[in-house]
Amino acid sequence: MEPWPIGVFASVDAGLGVHLDVAQELGIHTVQLHAPHVESRSKAAADAFLARCKAAGIAVSVVFGGFHGESYADIATTARTVGLVPKETRAARLAEMTEISDFAALLGCGAVGLHIGFVPQDTASEDYRNLVSATRDLLDHVNGNGQTLNLETGQESAEHLLEFIHAVNRDNLFINFDPANMILYGSGEPIDALKKVGKYVRSVHCKDAKWATQNRGVDWGCEVALGQGDVGMETYLRTLKDLGYTGPLTIEREIAHDREQQKKDIGAAVKLLTDLRTKIWG
Ligand code: MG
Repeated sequence: MEPWPIGVFASVDAGLGVHLDVAQELGIHTVQLHAPHVESRSKAAADAFLARCKAAGIAVSVVFGGFHGESYADIATTARTVGLVPKETRAARLAEMTEISDFAALLGCGAVGLHIGFVPQDTASEDYRNLVSATRDLLDHVNGNGQTLNLETGQESAEHLLEFIHAVNRDNLFINFDPANMILYGSGEPIDALKKVGKYVRSVHCKDAKWATQNRGVDWGCEVALGQGDVGMETYLRTLKDLGYTGPLTIEREIAHDREQQKKDIGAAVKLLTDLRTKIWG
């Protein structure tokens, strides 16, 4: 297979991704999918979606879980509401994530993705141990479906994420690397982080962002169109090549409130990545 097929983050009925017809229009053949709402996770819905994918020549590389009640309004709210970290919703979300893994299996998809949330800093705390244990339970279910779980980066530094992966100690736990998130959350230089976690990277987002002008890690950075931010797309891609990563380059542009601009920016991103791919691989 050619290295780096260009993909896009897509959705059926939920989330920030573009719809399948947009991917098709842009000539894209690989997508990551934001898991649909529960009522659309049936076998019949999966079959219907697969038929549409087949007709469009599109394959699904990762299905991402997301949960009711999550908010990315600001960094503090994200920490309080996102992923498996919040204790009050952990059991219910764990159950829902196993259902999403089953839905991904119906799509023949070998990977599920997740923002696990802000992993507690104190690795000796009960909270940390409980999160490790919940993650193991999820991974065992995911493994039963022959899948990996790829954790989205950004909310932890590379070192803290690695420590967590080592603590969980399951061989189907990997990373979906998002360089822009490292900037948005102020959790570390993205290229340095990529080099540190490189051996666990099984899927990636191509997204760009500018650092917060002050209070990094407290105030959001700003997500921008690909190539307009502080990631440095050519260096990012060259680092992925050095790590031996040849999988999809999945474009994410989180401006679902402006579908026209989103489509325009993704179109420009496809061109940028296509040009860089030619430059880097020849
Ligand atoms: Mg992302």
